[in-house]
Amino acid sequence: MAQVKAVLLDLGNVLVFHDNALLFSRLGARAGLEAGEVARRLSGAGWTDANRGVLGAEGIRQDVCRGLGVDLPMAEFAALWSSHFTLHDAVLPRVEGLLGRVRVGLVSNTNALHVAYLRPLLPVLKRFDSVVMSCEVGHVKPEPAIFRLALEGVGCAPEEAVFFDDLPEFVQAAEAQGLQGRLFTTADAFDAQLKALGL
Ligand SMILES: [Mg+2]
Repeated sequence: MAQVKAVLLDLGNVLVFHDNALLFSRLGARAGLEAGEVARRLSGAGWTDANRGVLGAEGIRQDVCRGLGVDLPMAEFAALWSSHFTLHDAVLPRVEGLLGRVRVGLVSNTNALHVAYLRPLLPVLKRFDSVVMSCEVGHVKPEPAIFRLALEGVGCAPEEAVFFDDLPEFVQAAEAQGLQGRLFTTADAFDAQLKALGL
């Protein structure tokens, strides 16, 4: 196995938790809909367009509001839309500890409003060697192009990079591009996985 020169990390459910059930119930409470109905109405192409950056902040607001049959002002919508995040405090010190020892990069499927909300909450991202947000690059996981961009960002060959994600589909997609894939589960398991990699 090649020596690890870079650690690439997913964002959602790795560095931050996102409680989608809570998001759907809060949006539903505002729109007079059951959470399950909100989930159903928001399961269309809008998510992908938002993640791809086709929809910016205002496009997301309009798309979601149209789907839910409401018209919320941006300030209220943006606060609701990001109300389901909590920092994964147990994992952040371990990530900080990697900086300077290996190159560290982020590879996230996310949208303009969530990036605007989360960047200030995660100042550690400024110290990453590479931050690839899908909505800023126009490619989403599991597409090969987003992994290529991430590898360019950290300047190493695929086999020199290990990629952590909580979704098996994306771990497999990274492995298909030659990266070492690891399924992220808990902070403790992450610590053990890094130690097994000599980190
Ligand atoms: Mg995730």
